[in-house]
This record gives sequence, structure tokens and C-alpha cells, in this order.
Amino acid sequence: AAAADSPLLHNLNPEQRAAVTLPAGNALILAGAGSGKTRVLTTRIAWLLQTGQVSPGGILAVTFTNKAAKEMMTRLGAMLPVNVRGMWIGTFHGLCNRFLRAHWKLANLPSTFQILDTQDQLSAIKRLMKQFNVDDERFPAKQTQWFIAGAKEDGLRPRDVEARSDDDRKKVELYQLYEEQCQREGVVDFGELMLRSYELLRDNDPVREHYQRRFRHILIDEFQDTNRLQYAWIKMLSGTTAEGRFTPNDNSVIAVGDDDQSIYAFRGARVGNMADFVREFDVSHQIKLEQNYRSYSNILDSANALISHNTKRLGKNLRTDQGPGEPVRVYEATSDFAEAQWMVEEMRQLVRDGIDRKEMAVLYRSNAQSRVIETALFNAAVPYRVYGGLRFFERAEIKHALAYLRLLENKDDDTSFLRIVNFPPRGIGARSIEQLQDAARAAGRSMHDAVSAVGGKAGSNLTAFVAKIDVLREQTQGLSLREIIELVLDHSGLIEHYKADREGADRIENLEELVNAAESFVTQEGFGRDAVALPVDELRQAPASQGLDPNRPVLDEPLAPDAETGETLSPLAAFLTHAALESGDNQAQAGQDAVQLMTVHAAKGLEFDCVFITGMEEGLFPHENSMSDNASLEEERRLMYVAITRARQRLYMSHSQTRMLHGQTRYNLKSRFFDELPEGALKWLTPKNQGFTPSAFGYGGGYATTRGGAGGFSKDSFASPPVPPQKAAPSHGLRSGMQVFHNKFGEGTVTALEGSGDDARAQVNFPRHGVKWLALSVAKLTPV
Ligand code: ATP
Ligand code: MG
Repeated sequence: AAAADSPLLHNLNPEQRAAVTLPAGNALILAGAGSGKTRVLTTRIAWLLQTGQVSPGGILAVTFTNKAAKEMMTRLGAMLPVNVRGMWIGTFHGLCNRFLRAHWKLANLPSTFQILDTQDQLSAIKRLMKQFNVDDERFPAKQTQWFIAGAKEDGLRPRDVEARSDDDRKKVELYQLYEEQCQREGVVDFGELMLRSYELLRDNDPVREHYQRRFRHILIDEFQDTNRLQYAWIKMLSGTTAEGRFTPNDNSVIAVGDDDQSIYAFRGARVGNMADFVREFDVSHQIKLEQNYRSYSNILDSANALISHNTKRLGKNLRTDQGPGEPVRVYEATSDFAEAQWMVEEMRQLVRDGIDRKEMAVLYRSNAQSRVIETALFNAAVPYRVYGGLRFFERAEIKHALAYLRLLENKDDDTSFLRIVNFPPRGIGARSIEQLQDAARAAGRSMHDAVSAVGGKAGSNLTAFVAKIDVLREQTQGLSLREIIELVLDHSGLIEHYKADREGADRIENLEELVNAAESFVTQEGFGRDAVALPVDELRQAPASQGLDPNRPVLDEPLAPDAETGETLSPLAAFLTHAALESGDNQAQAGQDAVQLMTVHAAKGLEFDCVFITGMEEGLFPHENSMSDNASLEEERRLMYVAITRARQRLYMSHSQTRMLHGQTRYNLKSRFFDELPEGALKWLTPKNQGFTPSAFGYGGGYATTRGGAGGFSKDSFASPPVPPQKAAPSHGLRSGMQVFHNKFGEGTVTALEGSGDDARAQVNFPRHGVKWLALSVAKLTPV
């Protein structure tokens, strides 16, 4: 009776309470977003401990992120006086790491084994392929990496992989060589952590039986995104016998999940694990939770309406007792820059309304989108934190590019030298670099200046590298910052290098973003104003009376000259300083009240008072790679469902007419997902579609903002009532929806008009050539 009265159970609804107090046995909790799945899981652990059904050491709980694991431990610590550190709560990788640290000898690892992240893994593979003279055109390293990771996720060692072609056999051979190299160097990659743990459990009866006895209760959050190997690992811990047969043991496994939030299929997640679990684990209890406690109904209705467009669903309902709350606000920006500006302004208002910055999240589909947002926040001195991904200037490819640029400024920067001396690979091995380092040290010179001390083939490769840098320095004299960066990207071989990578497209995108960043830094709409014109040390000490916040190197004068000599930093030096400072000093310290930036993938399981979903455009969200087949599109929709359901109180969605991506300006249609949201829950801050049906576009999402005057809203328009739509200036006689004829593109439909006079532009959808923006002063459009 004491158990039933436990205060732990007070804040639960009857279904949640039933789940928390389930008797021993295997169970599945299938429920939508914000229904308290994670809360139930945490409370169940506390309840099991409190009622003495299990000791802390008997719990194994798997969460999706380290952040979630920490949160769970904090909550448990607050509920009960237990030593949470002793409990096995963590991610699959974290728990496997812990397991292998405990049994390194049995796992045939050195006690000090190191973990390779995805980047390190790729370099290791490249190094190996080089050593064995493998044609990297035919077997791109990235592809080999995928092959290896995929095999491991399926629990396969090289000998287990069925090779059907010569290419397959080669990859299996590489897998084998890679394994040997890792073993020799004492390193394990992410997949290896999982597979090695699984194998140790499988092959070592005493170890397996020990853990099967030990973990009385196994609880798994976000079960819908487990892969094949993770599922097999759980089976090992639960009831697999020495003969490899699985029968549910007398320990209890509770899986918690939401099929609508399965967003990792591209990385091997198998939503089918849920059905397998019910069957193989002889699940005695299936619990559904249908009450959402997170969001107001305008938000929840939007999520429900959206996901109802998916066909393959297990079927769940979600309701909320909270009122409608604020409408979901939709904003159309003229540019990605304006979108970020609007967001910053809106955040300012939210702060005035008393909302903490850490309760504001900006979500985006692709990492490349964060740069413009980061810059806007940085310029406005809004503290922010980027989650689950590197900040723009910390990304490896950006650091490589910056290293080249740094060497142009300072040939003696040995850190930069080392970073790129063999990147892209130019046949300079570790041995030669060591030799060079020794020589430089002995002569007391920089590595750049010491290359002549190394002889032989290595020496000539080093000399060639240094010559390349020196030539680049010559060539970039007198060029604009943008031109310098473009030249360096080209001549360094970085772009070419990543082009050869199957997965390099993302990196090239980021490198092109670097060009955009530099461009913005110097010229655009106020961006240039954070140019750093003083030596860093002086800046840090700049007195407040000069209007300089020592933590925020923002000057009003771009590249302001030195007061005495009139000298200024070169734009390149200023930009490099900006990059260094922005990546270091402005990074909000943990615990500081900072806006949270992350991809939608990284936001899974989290919640915030206010959420901004940005870049809701066709090609971006849904992503262009996922628009052609229905399965991928459904995953994009689930991703959007995850994004929407992160918000408690306020949800903003924005899209932009133009966006700098991949180094060029794109004109995107607004996302088709807007058409799947309930009109009544939305509030359009900018005018919505004007009289035409989106379906006529063959896109499902349409674009038709008609706007007159000089185009664009004033910066403050979002703060005032929405600007009523105006008819386009009639001088060119075109209207939205009109059929027109173009000499080259044929007949099309006008979908939007912008600007006036010489600046007037029309967006026209040509059935055969797609959507184009045309300058009316040049293009001859005749109504038909
Ligand atoms: P997701 O699918 O996004 O992971 P979830 O189902 O795990 O969501 P939780 O994060 O556990 O949901 O809960 C959502 C929010 O609702 C949390 O803030 C939680 O504290 C709150 N909550 C859950 N159950 C209740 C309840 N019975 N009473 C009040 N608040 C609740
Ligand atoms: Mg959760």
C-alpha cells in the first residue's frame, strides 16, 4: 500500500501510473510526443528502487543522448537518495564503452584503448588505403567507411560478409585490414564499441550470465531508432542462451518509443524492431499514452495534422487539456539574412516577455543553415549555444581552409602548417613530418623555413608544398577577401579533394559557406560591422567608455584604422580574427542563459518554451534528396513532426524567398508541409498565398506572395500588424497567376512579383523549365 501511495506517483495520470508500476515482465510503451514516455521511464526506475524491487546496480537504462542520460540521473538524484553514478544509465555507445573498460582484457583490447570519432575513422581508412595502394577513385574512402560501419551495425565481421562481386571482396579485404590496423593501434570506432560488447556477451558464458543476472530491469527510451545490432545486444543481456537461442528471461525489458519519431532510418535504425520486440519478448503489457503535457493545442493540432499525412503508422492519438495557446506564427523573409534578423528581434521581444534564452531553440534541417543564424546572434550579442554539431568555424573542413589562409598571413604558424602539410594528401608521411619538426626545432625556425633540411623524395614534396603556399601568397596580393578565399579553396585542392569524397558534398557546401561568410563579413547589410580592427589584446582591454564590450569585439567602423599610423588590418587578417574569436569567446559557457541552436535530429526528446523552425522551404525541408520517393518523404515528415512537438508555448516557422546556399543564391518555394497544417492554428505574420492553387505547380507547396512597392518589409514589420497584401505595381502589367510567354522558356504562370521600376522581378513557373526569377527590365514576358 505504501508503494501505491508513493509521492512519486502523484504527478502521473492513470495510464502513466500503470506503466510505472507494471509488474515484472516485458512491456512496450508506444506513445506520441510529449506524452510523458521519458518521465514514465525515469519514474519507474525511481519507483523500482524506492519499493526495494531492485538495487541501483540492477538497473540498465538506455537513453538517446548523453544529455538525456545526465538529465535522467539528475532527476533520479532529486527523487531519491541514491548514488546515481553507480547506475548503468547512458547511450548505447556510452554503456558499451563502460562495459569494455570493465572487461578490456576479455575483449582483447589494451586498457587504454582510444575511441575514433567518425572523422578520425575516415582518416584512418584513408591512411590504410594509401598504404596498400588502393585506388581511391574506385573505392572512395567514405564509401569504405560506410561499408564497414554498415557491416558492424548488422553485427558482421569481415568473414561474415557475403561478397557477391570483386568490388565487394575488395571492400571486405579493406574491412579486414582496417580491423587489423585499429587493433594494432589500440583504437575502436563507434560501431566497434557496440559490436565488441555484443560479441563478448555472446562468446563468454560467465560474463553474459553475470550481466543477465545483474540487470533485473532494462529500460530503453527512443526504441524506434534502435538498429539491428542494438536490438541483438538487448537480447543478449536479456535471455540469450549459450546455444544462441533467445527466450525471454525473468528480467524485465521495457521499451519506450514512438514510431512517428523514427528519424534515423538512414543510419540503420529499424522501426521494425518494435514489432519484433512484441513477438520475441513475449510482451505481456502494451501501454498507450494519449495525453500530451507539453504543448498548447495549436501546436499539438499542427503536429497531429501534419503526421496524419503519413500512411505507414501504428496509429496513436494525442490530446491536450491545455488551451489553444498562441497561434503558430509563420514568417516569410526576403532572405536568409532577413530571416535571422527577424528571429533575433523576436527573441528580444520574448526576453522582454520574461522568457529565458535557454528556453528558446532554433531548429534547422541542415547544419549549413546555422552560419547565418550564428552570425546574426553574434552581431546582436545574443549568447547562443550550438548543440550536437560543431560550430561553423570549428568544422574540420573550415579549419583546413582557415589554416591555408593563416599561412598566407603568417608563414610561421606551425599549427596551421601541420594541419595542412599533408591535407589534401600529397605523399608527405608522418616520418618526414617528424624529420622536419626535428630540423625546425634544431635550427630554431618555423617548419615553413626548415623544409630544405629534409632530403630525398620527402624533402622535395615538402619544398613543393611550401612553394605552393608562397605562390598563393603572391597571387592573392591585392585581391578582395572573397577572391582570396575562392583562390585558396581552388588552389589548395580542398574542393577537389572533397569532390572525390562521396560524402564530401556537405563539406563543399560548408566551404562555399565560408565564401559567403567572408562576403557578409566585409559588405552585407551590417555584417561587416563586427570587423575587428584592433589587436586582440587591446580589444579585450578596451574600456567600456569606448562603447566596447570586452567580451564582444564589435566595432562600428569596419576595419577602423589605427589612430596613430592610419594602418588597418588586412581584410583577411580581420576575418581570421573574427573566425577565431567567434569560435572561442562567444561560445556561451555551460549554464549561461543562451539560445539553443541545433538540427532537428539533435532535438529529439528535448523540449523548449519557444521553438523556431527555420528554412521551411522545398529542397531544404523536405530535403532535396528526400523529395522523390515516398518513404524518404515520410521520414522528412516525421522529422517535421519531431520539430513541431519540441515546443511548449510558442512555435515559429519561417521560410525565405532567397537563400545563400552552396555558394549561390537560391530561390526556394515554401515547404509543402505548410499545406498540411491546420489553417486555424496558424498566424501568418507576412501575407500568405494569393489566389492560386499550389497543386498546379507539381510541387504540392506553392509560392505566391504578391507584393508591391519597393519590395520587402521594413525590419520592424513583424512587430506591427501584418502588412496587408498589395497588388504589384501595375507598370509592367503582370499579375500573380497570369499566363505569360517567354522566348526561351515558353509558357508559364506568374507566381510572384517583386520590386518596381528597373528592379521589378517576376517569379514564373515554366512547366518545362521549372521556377525562374526574371528581371522584367531584361526578360520579355508577354501575357497570353
Ligand atoms: P518525446 O516523445 O518528445 O520524447 P515524451 O513522451 O518522452 O516526449 P516527456 O518528455 O516525458 O514526454 O514529457 C513531456 C513533458 O510533459 C515533460 O515536461 C514532462 O515533465 C511533462 N509531463 C509528463 N507527464 C506529466 C503529467 N502527468 N503531469 C504533468 N506533466 C507531465
Ligand atoms: Mg522522451
